[in-house]
Amino acid sequence: MTYWDPIETMPREELEEYQLKKMRATVRHAVKQSPYYARHIPKECRDVRTMQDIARLPACDKDDIRKDQEVMPPLGRMLCVPEEKVVYISASSGSTGAPTASPFTQLDFDEWIDYEARLFYSSGLRNTDRYCHALNFSLFVGGPCVLGAQKVGALSIHAGTIPSERLIKIIDQFKPTVIWTTPSYAWYLGETAEKIGFDPAASSIKRLFVAGEPGGSIETTRRRIESLWNASVHDYYGISDIFGACAGECTAKEGLHLAEDHMLLEVIDPETNEHVAEGEKGEMYLTTLRKEARPLIRFRTGDIVTYETDQCSCGRTHLRLTGIHGRVDDMLIIKGVNVMPSAIESIIRSNEDLTGEYRLLVTRENHLDSLTVETEHVDRFKGNLAQLEQKIQHDIKATLGVSTRIVVYDEDTLPRATHKAKRIIDKREHVWNE
Ligand SMILES: [Zn+2]
Repeated sequence: MTYWDPIETMPREELEEYQLKKMRATVRHAVKQSPYYARHIPKECRDVRTMQDIARLPACDKDDIRKDQEVMPPLGRMLCVPEEKVVYISASSGSTGAPTASPFTQLDFDEWIDYEARLFYSSGLRNTDRYCHALNFSLFVGGPCVLGAQKVGALSIHAGTIPSERLIKIIDQFKPTVIWTTPSYAWYLGETAEKIGFDPAASSIKRLFVAGEPGGSIETTRRRIESLWNASVHDYYGISDIFGACAGECTAKEGLHLAEDHMLLEVIDPETNEHVAEGEKGEMYLTTLRKEARPLIRFRTGDIVTYETDQCSCGRTHLRLTGIHGRVDDMLIIKGVNVMPSAIESIIRSNEDLTGEYRLLVTRENHLDSLTVETEHVDRFKGNLAQLEQKIQHDIKATLGVSTRIVVYDEDTLPRATHKAKRIIDKREHVWNE
């Protein structure tokens, strides 16, 4: 086994010492250079000597970044360097408010690209590969990740988000071995290819790197994409305020390795605010350990994850995210039961009679929440529709403990996602988690 960087196999004890040292330096840098942090981090919390000390530091979230950038546009008071030192910003999509900027110095940028190269290398990318980048470039932090593939030495095709038929022609002509996209789009692209007579399973693609949605970590979704393309799916996790990809799946596929030399992970129970144990679900908080331009301290990502720290069979010691279960905001509370849409996706996609497409409709009638799952049967399904609906209803009830209404349409009734899929329609008003 070969590694991009010796730090990937550093013994955990040393790694944790390294993190603590960097954490201390980050807090010092932040309170010294940024008026925001000078104001928000109480003096008595600034001397971080143990991992427990970290939990005393105040957390921040996307809204704090947004407000801070509104107070002092465009980069905010969290910025820790003069603007002359900033060479790059990405801007978040703004799907939940005004877009926010994520600034990088040249050093931040170079370290990030080297880190992307490390992740791609761990997923099996080599200089003999051809890498097709089929994610958005415009303002999006996933764009420059293509430079990580180039750093590995792969021939890189900057496709971006072009119409599917054109992308299929590019694949046919230049024969990339690796493609990077979202799981929804990987699925859609494969189906579109089949419809126009191009067999994705017989194509040059051997690996799909997927990011932007939980699908790559949902076993049944992953298996469907893998069989459609006859290729290996590697899941990636990124967040615009930190890196395009912060974690990625190695060839052993035992979870997504997080760059623990670049960021510190905490997983917090959203109700008690306490750290959860390994293997248990909670909200991911990340602290950057090397960022100059804008360090983030205890940033609430809003993503529900689980993690493990025991050594991966690939030999890497950095912890693995063993599940990315969706957004805290996506968690539906139906009659008091917590329901992650990804759990319903898993059930829908394990049913061979269904296309795998689905939509969740939440309504409130007479003060009672009601969840309708809309899905589609495959064309070849000739059985009894009512029985199929009953089976799905039963499987969801047995797994999640929630009663649902099921509607199964013909294949191709539901809208197909070309980028991030919008699968939840919540028509309730005054829900407590809004
Ligand atoms: Zn590994």
